[in-house]
Amino acid sequence: MSTPQADTLAEDPAYAIALAQFNTVADRLQLDSGIREILRVPKRELITHFPVKMDDGSIQVFTGYRIQHNVARGPAKGGIRYHPQVSQGEVRALAMWMTWKCAVVSIPYGGAKGGVACDPKQMSLSELERLTRRYTSEISILIGPQEDIPAPDMNTNARVMAWIMDTYSMNAGYSVPGVVTGKPLEIGGSQGRDEATGRGVSIITDEAMCHLGRSLDGATVVIQGFGNVGSHAARILYEMGARIVGASDSSGGVHNPSGLDPALLSRFRSEGGRLVDYTDGDSVTNAEILELPCDILVPAALENQITAANASLVQARVIVEGANGPTTPEADAILQDKGVLLVPDILANAGGVVVSYFEWIQGMQHYFWDIEEVRTKLEHIIKGAFREVVSLAEEQSVSLRDAALMLAVNRVAQAIDIRGVFP
Ligand code: NAD
Repeated sequence: MSTPQADTLAEDPAYAIALAQFNTVADRLQLDSGIREILRVPKRELITHFPVKMDDGSIQVFTGYRIQHNVARGPAKGGIRYHPQVSQGEVRALAMWMTWKCAVVSIPYGGAKGGVACDPKQMSLSELERLTRRYTSEISILIGPQEDIPAPDMNTNARVMAWIMDTYSMNAGYSVPGVVTGKPLEIGGSQGRDEATGRGVSIITDEAMCHLGRSLDGATVVIQGFGNVGSHAARILYEMGARIVGASDSSGGVHNPSGLDPALLSRFRSEGGRLVDYTDGDSVTNAEILELPCDILVPAALENQITAANASLVQARVIVEGANGPTTPEADAILQDKGVLLVPDILANAGGVVVSYFEWIQGMQHYFWDIEEVRTKLEHIIKGAFREVVSLAEEQSVSLRDAALMLAVNRVAQAIDIRGVFP
């Protein structure tokens, strides 16, 4: 029997990628047809149209989502995105990827994602706070420290997490820090959470280069999307000896074959600069940045960036997906034919959710670790997952994407199987 709910959104570009990836791996694993039906659709979807009072006194209605894909392995976990393109299909895809991501790094969570269709660049801080608090109130029937734990994603950060935590706590009548991760340190955040996704990307990049028998020292790196993930990855890869030759934000980017200093790029961005205006190099568009000569390409912005139209023009030897879903299945095939080593999103950018997990554990124990402990434990998990994925890829002669998804889907399927179907 087909599942109509899955098909109505199958046209959404991000969800189409997620479904195509899942179908390939489900075929390869010869997944039980019942478990396949369960996993191809989200468990729960909340859509809310909610009003926010704007600074000029007017009322604007926004649409928000919280979608839980699967919770067989533990509470739902996943970020909240504020972006004009947020849609039900995109959030569904991101929720599904979270299920696989938590499974591939063996942390005891299921997958979820949330988002609000809005343009935070056009909103004041107090409008954003009111939007966040009302959205939190709307999704509070789903979230909670044992149920579903949001975290930052595009255009949300520690300050937004603090508003979510405070709103949820006001309704509960006591402080509930465990309802979100990615909180400020002052209210129960973890050391190293801010940089965690970028650090995971950097550790994986180093592992991928070692796997190819190459060194990161002097290797050239291009980063699309100089936000939380991209800027920390740039800084850490630079500290590890790599040369950052290109970086972009939503305006476009800059290319300098002699190398860019990530600290200067970050300062320029924090002072309100757009990377397309950065003078130490040539300006490039976000399409051009993907095609620059380099050893390593880190897409760290949105989905659907490397497609059938531009995959053959990518010059990098290694791609490390900082973003979720940046490469389409058609592009995957082209890159594989070209001999590009691609480390998939669910493994490459898992550092964030791993340190979110550490934050959740520290919060429950009321005992906090120092930065070195966080970094050591993160490295241990990420390197272990990389080794597992590489060895399965070699054993089965499949891409790292397929191997990572096979490991993950199998773990989730086993959890569903062991628990059984209620009632
Ligand atoms: P962010 O909002 O901090 O940064 C996003 C960056 O991308 C900004 O520099 C923005 O200017 C740029 N950007 C936006 N649209 C772009 C476009 N069309 N082309 C090029 N650049 C564009 O977001 P983030 O948290 O760094 O997330 C980036 C990606 O990483 C997303 O796909 C997100 O899902 C994924 N991710 C984030 C985390 C996390 O912990 N924050 C964890 C795992 C995965």
